[in-house]
Amino acid sequence: MNAILPAAIVGSLPKPSWLSEPEKLWSPWKLDGDELREGQLDAQSLAAEEQRRSGIGVISDGEQTRQHFVTTFIEHLSGVDFDRRETVRIRDRYDASVPTVSGAVSRERSVFAEDAKRLRAQTDQPIKWALPGPMTMIDTLYDDHYRSRERLAWEFATILNEEAKELEAAGVDIIQFDEPAFNVFFDELKDWGVAALERATQGLQCETAVHICYGYGIKANTEWKATLGSQWRQYEESFPLLQQSSIDIVSLESHNSRVPVELIELLRGKQVMLGAIDVASDTIETPEEVAATLRRALPYVDAAKLTPSTNCGMAPLSRWVARDKMTALAAGAELLRAELS
Ligand SMILES: [Zn+2]
Repeated sequence: MNAILPAAIVGSLPKPSWLSEPEKLWSPWKLDGDELREGQLDAQSLAAEEQRRSGIGVISDGEQTRQHFVTTFIEHLSGVDFDRRETVRIRDRYDASVPTVSGAVSRERSVFAEDAKRLRAQTDQPIKWALPGPMTMIDTLYDDHYRSRERLAWEFATILNEEAKELEAAGVDIIQFDEPAFNVFFDELKDWGVAALERATQGLQCETAVHICYGYGIKANTEWKATLGSQWRQYEESFPLLQQSSIDIVSLESHNSRVPVELIELLRGKQVMLGAIDVASDTIETPEEVAATLRRALPYVDAAKLTPSTNCGMAPLSRWVARDKMTALAAGAELLRAELS
């Protein structure tokens, strides 16, 4: 793929209603056993095809084989007891009942390599795979074993690195780590957050990305965002550290957000995945609105390093809204591409 401005979604897409209840996070599966596996892979194929038909340039799995972007990965690890649950505060924002780390954490086998091979076989376009980042993982658990957020994060970074290497071997072109926690825990971000993220990417030859956002368009996040004032400057904490890091691509929110666009300057030299689609609203952006959001970033990032994207995952939206938003994203990128060529 040689064209500039290849559009890419951040990660999740809504699942078909025959697979799980739509417009809901942590929605339970409607199938089980072999039928569930078949249904998940069929949904993944559909998600890839819908992206391709919408004009998306970098194809993702739409997270169709996972119930949740963090929990599903952790479910495949040993050392975490899902029957022992404690209530903790997630990203300082809302309470959730979470599983307990009760022993040393380890990964017996790859969680997503088989799914990634299926996606690879389906398209010649570049593919991107998202994994949770170490800091975001520890924030969705109660730790009764290491009793140190830093130590647990390093353990997860090692596990994520093993998984990322298998995804790379499966033919994934871009491995993305989702770190919404980077917008909340600034001391840890500086002390060990970026270092743990780099540990997760150690030795990879493929491109690496980190997605930092203000969360899915759910009530708790919308209410939190309302408290953040007229300018959201949280990225000021992470961007200078990431600019100095080995991570290739940084994914951020922009459209309809109060993030000052000039903060992108702090990433100078890096590739930028810019959110030009609001995932907290059902209103479909026009291609002109998408192009306008992307255009505003051009003083701060070379067009050759810009990937038009969504603000976050689209799992909580309806399938039809998500599909129309993907089409608008690709059309907006095309408008700007034509303008620049
Ligand atoms: Zn996000």
